Amino acid sequence: MKKQTIAINTPYVRPDVYGSLAVPIYNNVAFEFQDAQEMADAFCNRIKAPDYARVENPTVTNLEQRVKALTSAEHVTAFNSGMAAISNTLLAVAEQKKNIVTTHHLFGNTLALISKTLNRYGVEPRFCDLTNLQAVEDAINENTCCVFLEVLTNPQLEVADLQSLAEIAHKKAIPLIVDSTAIPFTETSLKQLGVDIEVVSSTKYISGGGTSLGGLVIDYGTFPAINQRLKYELLFNLGAYMTPQAAYMQTLGLETLDVRYQRQASNAQKIAETLKEQSAIHHVNYIGLKDNPYYTLARKQFNSTSGAMLTIDLASKEACFRFLNKLQLVHRATNLFDNRTLAIHPASTIFGLFSEEQLKAMDVRQTTIRLSIGLENTEDIINDIIQALQDDL
Ligand SMILES: *Cc1c(COP(=O)(O)O)cnc(C)c1O
Repeated sequence: MKKQTIAINTPYVRPDVYGSLAVPIYNNVAFEFQDAQEMADAFCNRIKAPDYARVENPTVTNLEQRVKALTSAEHVTAFNSGMAAISNTLLAVAEQKKNIVTTHHLFGNTLALISKTLNRYGVEPRFCDLTNLQAVEDAINENTCCVFLEVLTNPQLEVADLQSLAEIAHKKAIPLIVDSTAIPFTETSLKQLGVDIEVVSSTKYISGGGTSLGGLVIDYGTFPAINQRLKYELLFNLGAYMTPQAAYMQTLGLETLDVRYQRQASNAQKIAETLKEQSAIHHVNYIGLKDNPYYTLARKQFNSTSGAMLTIDLASKEACFRFLNKLQLVHRATNLFDNRTLAIHPASTIFGLFSEEQLKAMDVRQTTIRLSIGLENTEDIINDIIQALQDDL
């Protein structure tokens, strides 16, 4: 079956007694057993049955099963945020004296997790330009535990060659771990490109309009020890499993993901092309524009789609603030891939506590506005953006 069908028709593990058509929310903590033997078997994983909601819950399991069916993954584990999925995954691969090869072009908290939190426990961050394959080879040594990157970085909108990175990582027998939040896994075949593990903030595209926090670890089974540690050690000991309420909302979101994504991506394409004609905008960065340096690679890796995130550069930070303050329809808010169009000035918000020097290393500019395009009528979005630029024309 095709992805649109699988997203909607993945039966839940134990059929609901009333035959509820939507997945029921099992809003409980403990599960009862028929007898002592069943209880022992469940606790020791000899049978597949939930025992305690910190590590398993049927509503969450159903979401995991649907994602597994959509990605052909070996294991899928749902966490209570994207950061929980990322931190648990990195804790499963890293240990003292090991290093992580990555880039400065990372989501702010991921960058801080790697450079501060994990570093405090003896894991070394190794930053390089992941679009330069030689630099990646040179950065990897015998203590490297993984290569980590994002499919489409934010706000730089950089795209790295995943197949080549996977080949380099596998030559050194280490996994390639990819944060695929910015392009839904229904549009990519990262497994075919050699990616070993995908981590996703399901808060974004999947939640269905910013309804709930969530994270997914999609494991293709190529490094079996990682899932073992993640599911049977970290899930228990760190307690960051997804809640049934979030899983319910994210399952509803997953059911409509394809239509929402297609519309948001086509809206973004139209808007990027129109904004390119505006003289007050110095630069439009969108991977769906033919003159974008990543256009060809992005088409290949993302099923000819380009996502719903774009950036525009104005004359100055002040021009960016004036623009944001004049918006009437587009919302001044963080988050990505909400149903609504959102605008933010990354340098003063998400990256507001980084120094100018760090911002420079990350290529985060004071002149950049990030837009996450929603489901509204594109004419209305464009009209709002153009009126907000008026002062600067
Ligand atoms: C939002 C985001 C995260 C963090 O996800 P949360 O669900 O907010 O914890 C991680 N990576 C990327 C690329 C993101 O956009």
